[in-house]
Amino acid sequence: MIKNIKNYSLDELKEELQKIGEKSYRATQIYEWIYSKRVKSFDEMTNLSIDLREKLKNNFSIGNFGIVKKLESVDGTKKYLFDINDGKGNLIESVLMQYHHGFTVCVSSQIGCRMGCKFCASTGIKFERGLFPGEIVEQILAIEEDAKIKISNIVFMGIGEPLDNYDNVMKAIEIINNPKALNIGARHISLSTSGIVPRIYDLADKNMQCTLSISLHSTNNEKRSEMMPINKVYPIEELMKACKYYIEKTNKRISFEYALAKSENDNLKDADELVKLLKGMLAHVNLIPINEIKDGKYTKSTNENIIRFRDYLNEKGIVATIRRELGSDIEAACGQLRKQNLES
Ligand code: SF4
Repeated sequence: MIKNIKNYSLDELKEELQKIGEKSYRATQIYEWIYSKRVKSFDEMTNLSIDLREKLKNNFSIGNFGIVKKLESVDGTKKYLFDINDGKGNLIESVLMQYHHGFTVCVSSQIGCRMGCKFCASTGIKFERGLFPGEIVEQILAIEEDAKIKISNIVFMGIGEPLDNYDNVMKAIEIINNPKALNIGARHISLSTSGIVPRIYDLADKNMQCTLSISLHSTNNEKRSEMMPINKVYPIEELMKACKYYIEKTNKRISFEYALAKSENDNLKDADELVKLLKGMLAHVNLIPINEIKDGKYTKSTNENIIRFRDYLNEKGIVATIRRELGSDIEAACGQLRKQNLES
């Protein structure tokens, strides 16, 4: 079977080459062609013999993506819909955002999502599979090439639950990290989860240096289970226990995402419950107006409410900031482009 060469960490590629009778140092040369010189075919790897290039073509693909659609916001945010060329017509989305500290890409980790969050455009659309490491990495390569920029930060907040595709996401992070590949430090990578508790323990034991974000959105099990069905499997008490273990093990701050929905989770009683839940923890709260989707149940909280909510948290000693909404004119929230395309 032909395998995408970008699925392999450098050490794995060395082993793969040995299996086809080649010297392992060739892996470093191939990495340089792919990640430094950014070639798109084995034929361009001109310091490899013609024989080796043929062997590579017979055993591997190079996994390039095609851009199906690109939307650009007035604030510079760009949203990409990619054809991942897997022979099945699967499409995924990635978003490029510009902040004062550099360019950030929001990558997808799965084709669809099984978590069923009620406020998410990916809910109700067919789940296909987890993305392979090369397909995660390719999102970054394709955007860097198209936008002619160097990306400095990665957030796993696109389509999919990254911890539901744990092994492939960990492998992708290894490649993103590797100085001979994308050379983006772990501290510049953020993993966002709806709360897959056993994998949070795994991340803690691995002493992962990436930033962990928890999509919390409610402090009340009944409300949270309604918004995010994963809460029925891993309720808030279990989630918080795992978060505390993670902080203890890694000494790293956790970012709690809280999307405010009008009259749902945005009053001061909710803010007070959040204070009680996070008191004394190494935590930061990111407030965002909830993403409104077609036929969705939730509407955005007002700006005044969001500010009042933030001020209340800050007064009570919980560090909270309001995340700037980028790309709202191009529906940059995850899953919306794929959904439109599947429905058209
Ligand atoms: S918000 Fe994230 S975890 Fe929830 S359904 Fe959407 S993609 Fe999945």
